[in-house]
Amino acid sequence: MITTVARRKQLAHLTEQIEELKQKGTFFRLRVLEDEQEAVCTYDGKRVINLASNNYLGLTSHPKLREAAIEATRKYGVGSGAVRTIAGTMRIHMELEEKIARFKNVEACVVFQSGFTANAGTVSSILGKEDFIISDELNHASIIDGARLSRAKIKVFRHKDVAHAEELLREIQNEAGRKLLITDGVFSMDGDIAPVDRLCDLADKYGTIMMVDDAHASGVLGRNGRGSVDHFHCDGRVDVQVGTLSKAIGALGGYVCGSRDLIEYLYHRARPFLFSTSHPPSVAATCIAAFDILENEPERIQRLWDNTAYFKQQLASAGFNIGGVTTPASETPITPVIIGDGRATMEFSRKLFDAGVMATGIAFPTVPEGKARVRTIMTSEHTRAQLDEALDVMSRVGKGMGLIS
Ligand SMILES: *Cc1c(COP(=O)(O)O)cnc(C)c1O
Repeated sequence: MITTVARRKQLAHLTEQIEELKQKGTFFRLRVLEDEQEAVCTYDGKRVINLASNNYLGLTSHPKLREAAIEATRKYGVGSGAVRTIAGTMRIHMELEEKIARFKNVEACVVFQSGFTANAGTVSSILGKEDFIISDELNHASIIDGARLSRAKIKVFRHKDVAHAEELLREIQNEAGRKLLITDGVFSMDGDIAPVDRLCDLADKYGTIMMVDDAHASGVLGRNGRGSVDHFHCDGRVDVQVGTLSKAIGALGGYVCGSRDLIEYLYHRARPFLFSTSHPPSVAATCIAAFDILENEPERIQRLWDNTAYFKQQLASAGFNIGGVTTPASETPITPVIIGDGRATMEFSRKLFDAGVMATGIAFPTVPEGKARVRTIMTSEHTRAQLDEALDVMSRVGKGMGLIS
């Protein structure tokens, strides 16, 4: 007897939820990139100016990174064959960790498969159920998941509100458990920067562990892209620094920087490190080459910030709400164009795409209800002509929809 998929009802509740998304106008299909991740590229057969990637420095297609990946594949093959703790630690994995540790001016570094696993694996393993996590309300999902997995008690402070964080710390001052104060360095949906220096002051005052997730700050903020801790001159004050290798670095992975003992502990206890296979050698080689680029081609970072300043200024003068009133004000290459309504946001994004600009619509639950936005991210590789063209399209479509006058 043939049992067709349609006759099975076990997942009917998912179908209902999909229907609900379609009703709300927030259902999406994945756009498929047909060539390389670049400032202008082809999605779904259409050539568009790309304002949606995290490829801040254009490293996804840098010739030196490409060469490094090919060379490592030739020399060492395509896979590591095991988890790091069994047999899958290759010489090149160690070289990358040593390189990042030197770059970040810390004792040691461990690389995870992604930024997500770096956060989730670290937060969940360094704390237990007697402990406390004091977390910014807009921290990334991987921090939230790690916090839940740790079973520690979670206290959420209002976005970037240091006084509120202190209030929460004071409430638990006499509790026995350890305390972890944790923030994103740059917030991924609004592009604003955490008050890392003042949070470090709090961590010192209350004796808490201090942790910063620098996914969007890696390669973007600080000297040669060293991140928010460098940006705020907080070297030595942050116990756990997380970064990603998947955004500005152009490849894939996440890392944790800190003391030698922190890293040794994570080697023994971080579950994604213990139970999931390490990167192919090509990934490690690519990342090593990327850190050389950060040191040797700082002009990329300068171009990124020049483009960012220009694009933000032009968007604002066109009349778009780029945050700062009811949402945080962006200070980085992430610039949200706030629409509010989820359906209108998705429509704006779709119309932009049809007119030749790729900028992703982001709605609830990724951002709060009523704060839906089209998020743009600048790169160093966009030319002024491409930016002007994108701005022209955005103004035209925005006017057509009555979003700006
Ligand atoms: C993207 C992101 C991550 C996850 O990094 P991946 O390397 O893509 O897994 C973690 N934290 C923040 C704040 C991010 O924006």
